[in-house]
Amino acid sequence: MTLYDLSRAELSELLAGEPAYRAGQLWEGLYRDHREIDELTTLPKSLRARLSGDERLSPAWSLVIESASDRGATRKWLFEAGDGSRIETVLMRYRERTTVCVSSQAGCAMGCSFCATGQLGFGRHLSCGEIVEQFIRASRWATAEGWGRIGNMVLMGMGEPLANYDNVFRALRRCNDSVGIGARSITVSTVGVVPGIAKMASEPLQVNLAVSLHAANDGLRDHLVPLNRRYPLKVLMAACEDYVEVTRRRISFAWACIGGVNDRPSDAHELAALARPLRAHVNLIPLNPTPGYQVAGSTAETVAYFRDELRDLGVNVTIRNTRGRDVDAACGQLAAGISPGGLTRGKRSSGAPREVAVRARLA
Ligand code: SF4
Repeated sequence: MTLYDLSRAELSELLAGEPAYRAGQLWEGLYRDHREIDELTTLPKSLRARLSGDERLSPAWSLVIESASDRGATRKWLFEAGDGSRIETVLMRYRERTTVCVSSQAGCAMGCSFCATGQLGFGRHLSCGEIVEQFIRASRWATAEGWGRIGNMVLMGMGEPLANYDNVFRALRRCNDSVGIGARSITVSTVGVVPGIAKMASEPLQVNLAVSLHAANDGLRDHLVPLNRRYPLKVLMAACEDYVEVTRRRISFAWACIGGVNDRPSDAHELAALARPLRAHVNLIPLNPTPGYQVAGSTAETVAYFRDELRDLGVNVTIRNTRGRDVDAACGQLAAGISPGGLTRGKRSSGAPREVAVRARLA
């Protein structure tokens, strides 16, 4: 249990004996203003000192490495928890918006063949507070550096969000109702956890759903996304259809373009046959290199040709700008800096390493 795991009622309990309005000041200071306890000058100094010494109010993450790329427009943080679990968070600045990409698990059990996180294996689920804290810390940084307010949050970092459904949605509700990010500005990405998609259809919080498809026939998808063996395309597409019917919201399909593997005209035809009935938007992402998957991403010309082919077939499609490739912060590269088996580093003593080696990112 860490600072952002505590509910409002639990925080109020810690303030027993204080005037009732103190709980509101503490909550708003943490969530609305993104302040640390030491900075909450609305609270008396003695109370701040007491709260700062309370272990239950400690942050979850210590910074290990901060990296930058794309001429400063992309920032990646490698964080470590008290149990040694490591995750990465990425912040991207575009002309019209700033987007944070957060992790939902340390590592990932899904084993997608092209993905650096998948190559690491599964560490553990992140708690609600560990997810919220990534957003708050990125917001603090963005404000301090003059990047302004974070307008979008994507659950596309390390892990499969729908495999950690309850913690992820608790965190998203917190980000929505207390931090103030709009539900329509939040995107949850999945490789096809069908029960999670069904659950999302009845979620009151109307966040966006992105399905990482990457292949439009079971033979290829079994290989690229092993979860397909459990939820083959017929089952996945039925879940997507139900979702669209219930929510009346459009979904998007992510497609990592892999040279000679899924970028041929026949792939475009198969993909169009899945996307068109759902009116799904397709995002094409040139594959980024990872140590465990040696096939190259499609060339820029092939991606453009593939896009045009899809357009001709009546599909809404965009080529996504890949960020942070040079510092392993691009799509599918997160955790590439952690060697397999290195998801946890053992217990940290007090004072985590703080190494700002500006060197790091996705879209
Ligand atoms: S692509 Fe996503 S679901 Fe697949 S292994 Fe990587 S992090 Fe996990």
